[in-house]
Amino acid sequence: MFELSQEHEDFRKVVRDFAEKEVAPNIAKWDAESHFPTDLVPKMGELGLFGLVVPEEFGGSAREGQGDFTSLCVAIEELGRVDQSIGITLSAGVGLGINPILTYGDDEQKLRFLPDLVAGRALAGFGLTEPEAGSDAAATKTRAARDGHEWVINGAKAFITNSGTDITLLVTVMAATGTNPDGSKELSTIIVPTGTPGFTVAPGYSKVGWCASDTHELSFDDVRVPAGNLLGPRGRGFAQFLRILDEGRIAIAALAVGLAQGCVDESVRYANERQAFGRPIGNYQAVQFMIADMELRAHTARLGYYDAASRMLAGEDFKRYAAIAKLNASNAAMENSRYATQVHGGYGFMNESAVGRFYRDAKILEVGEGTSEVQRMLIARGVGL
Ligand SMILES: Cc1cc2nc3c(=O)[nH]c(=O)nc-3n(C[C@H](O)[C@H](O)[C@H](O)COP(=O)(O)OP(=O)(O)OC[C@H]3O[C@@H](n4cnc5c(N)ncnc54)[C@H](O)[C@@H]3O)c2cc1C
Repeated sequence: MFELSQEHEDFRKVVRDFAEKEVAPNIAKWDAESHFPTDLVPKMGELGLFGLVVPEEFGGSAREGQGDFTSLCVAIEELGRVDQSIGITLSAGVGLGINPILTYGDDEQKLRFLPDLVAGRALAGFGLTEPEAGSDAAATKTRAARDGHEWVINGAKAFITNSGTDITLLVTVMAATGTNPDGSKELSTIIVPTGTPGFTVAPGYSKVGWCASDTHELSFDDVRVPAGNLLGPRGRGFAQFLRILDEGRIAIAALAVGLAQGCVDESVRYANERQAFGRPIGNYQAVQFMIADMELRAHTARLGYYDAASRMLAGEDFKRYAAIAKLNASNAAMENSRYATQVHGGYGFMNESAVGRFYRDAKILEVGEGTSEVQRMLIARGVGL
């Protein structure tokens, strides 16, 4: 499958139009002020962006168990083409916020949380990374102990997206709940609602990029939640989080393609306008070749995420292909942002320029949802090493 359906392409236009009207005019200010635009989230909800993979009974648009993951990726790409902070808000909102509850929640949990998350009235975070456990996520130190009908949670999480907005409803937290027979940690996932006593959200980080996205360190000090807040079976937390991350990587690849394509589009526009030595700089072959290579990277990276998404939707083992898509697309984003700022000369180095923002935003794509080294490990494992 190398082309999307007309329906998908029509949907792409709708999201592009939304991004250009609602995001583009405001994003330089939001970025400069590290402002998370809470009011935009329900508007994204009205457009149906949070509900593409969620069944109708919980407020989404997925029919007969068939969610439209491809449309979700297209929406993330199109938001990401204009701005990465808004793209990651959707990607994390669905992939890391909604998806764990949708995939592993019981009916009560789904009915309680999904309608608000799908409408964009609320957001949820995904608490895996800790100050001393990132790539090696199984080294989790956060622990949860059963006390009667409650879990008592102690520990900390680092860099959690969408975890401290005015509308954050909950964070799903991976915690050690015991020891397995082989001596390894038993890891489980527990839903912690915002505002639970002992659950503290630190002030937002000062970041290099994704400045209009919401990221916090979280701490848990004798946080008590009902036993029924366990998400999925006890001891399955790590496997659940790994599966969520595999899907999330395809979405991050789409986000990276958005950045790579945004760099092409901004550079073509600028190269046709900017005059040097009596001609538009786009007349010079050195500039044309930089942009041609950028287009090549954006196009081939898009095919990579289409491929991983179609394998996932076909029910195949897609782990290796999600890693390939993410690694390739994040490389494309890094390279394209480097060359796009070059095409823009000094203007590209200004924070308010879109390509300057892309240059700062690109780096996290090589780190979040698994570093590039982790993607290489997965690919190496996938080919039998
Ligand atoms: C803005 C932002 C948002 C984020 N959002 C979330 C979120 O919502 N939820 C969440 O749970 N996490 C989130 N993260 C965390 C992110 O997933 C981690 O930062 C990432 O997985 C890397 O972990 P680390 O930072 O601990 O780095 P480390 O794991 O300490 O890695 C440091 C370096 O060592 C390398 N390395 C580690 N182990 C190996 C190895 N075995 N072989 C070779 N190289 C290795 C890494 O590739 C990297 O280059 C976010 C991070 C950021 C910055």
